[in-house]
Amino acid sequence: MPDHHLDFRSDTAAWPSVEMRATMLEAPVGDDVFDEDPTVHKLQDRLAGMLGKEAALFVPSGTMANVIAVLLHCRPGEEMIVEAQSHVCHYEQAGHARLAGVAARSVQGERGVMRLEQIKGMIRADDVHFARTRLLWLENTHNRGGGRVLPYDTVQEMCDWAAENSLARHLDGARIFNAAVASGIEASQWASHFDTINVCFSKGLGAPVGSALVGSRKMIREGMRHRKLLGGGMRQAGVLAAAALYALENNIDRLADDHANAQLLARGIAAIDGLDARPEEADTNLVFFNVEESLCTAEGFVEELARHDLQMLATGPQTIRASLHLDISEQDVERALEIIEGCARDEKRHKT
Ligand SMILES: *Cc1c(COP(=O)(O)O)cnc(C)c1O
Repeated sequence: MPDHHLDFRSDTAAWPSVEMRATMLEAPVGDDVFDEDPTVHKLQDRLAGMLGKEAALFVPSGTMANVIAVLLHCRPGEEMIVEAQSHVCHYEQAGHARLAGVAARSVQGERGVMRLEQIKGMIRADDVHFARTRLLWLENTHNRGGGRVLPYDTVQEMCDWAAENSLARHLDGARIFNAAVASGIEASQWASHFDTINVCFSKGLGAPVGSALVGSRKMIREGMRHRKLLGGGMRQAGVLAAAALYALENNIDRLADDHANAQLLARGIAAIDGLDARPEEADTNLVFFNVEESLCTAEGFVEELARHDLQMLATGPQTIRASLHLDISEQDVERALEIIEGCARDEKRHKT
């Protein structure tokens, strides 16, 4: 295998381990479009149980799980309330609009967190001029909010309000287990406030492919139709489900290591001249930091890091994201900090 040890661009860079691959090799399979793959069933049942829901649907990606959720909750011409920096608003090609005909009414939160007062007036009246408001969409942990764990009370309050007003609730829980491990609040408790939840296996959990949509049996039954329409009906998908199952059984508790490494990295970066990191804002496995304008652009700094075999992601003109995951050890973080410090020093030297 090629060495990818200093790939901090995304937690999707967590590769399937040898043990995970062994379970894939041995997985019993069937045709999942006929709903006959025993390993897919096992995965779906296990995840549904962990989240306290009736059923789950294995899909190729989180993007597909999310768009299926929109299709389930809304009809064309309807609207969902969503935080402006959420993944669905930034990284999914407005699939809700293109594939479901649904508008996103976005609200600027504070590091990913909306307040109830902000959304209270947003349900539109029954009037021929207006779209119908149908869905409240939250993301936890919030990617662009810094991998932030949403405050539990805020989630509860907003979801209660949504339920009282007949809005459906969807959680983009691509990293719900990071939220559970960091907060000590069970994934099922977070999930209890939502009708549907997207969970990604291919992020920090380390599976090569796959996500799941979780919800009631009725919703998931209908979701199967949408999955087929979107081209997500897979045949002997058990080989992939086996990896996801392995991830659920072995890679959840260890997310705490990623969170500890994120703290180590953030504290190290905060101490480097010309860089600005806030360890107290790194709740989980993502670290966002800023490069001072006097030093360099984020793009330029990332290129410099890459020349030293350290990969990170520029997410804004001066902002860089680093993701921790199971292929990055404490030693890797220490090595990364040396490279970052060296590059910052070089940039400074070039400027003077
Ligand atoms: C990665 C991610 C997704 C989409 O997952 P893909 O499998 O990459 O399509 C959705 N939501 C959030 C918050 C994510 O981080």
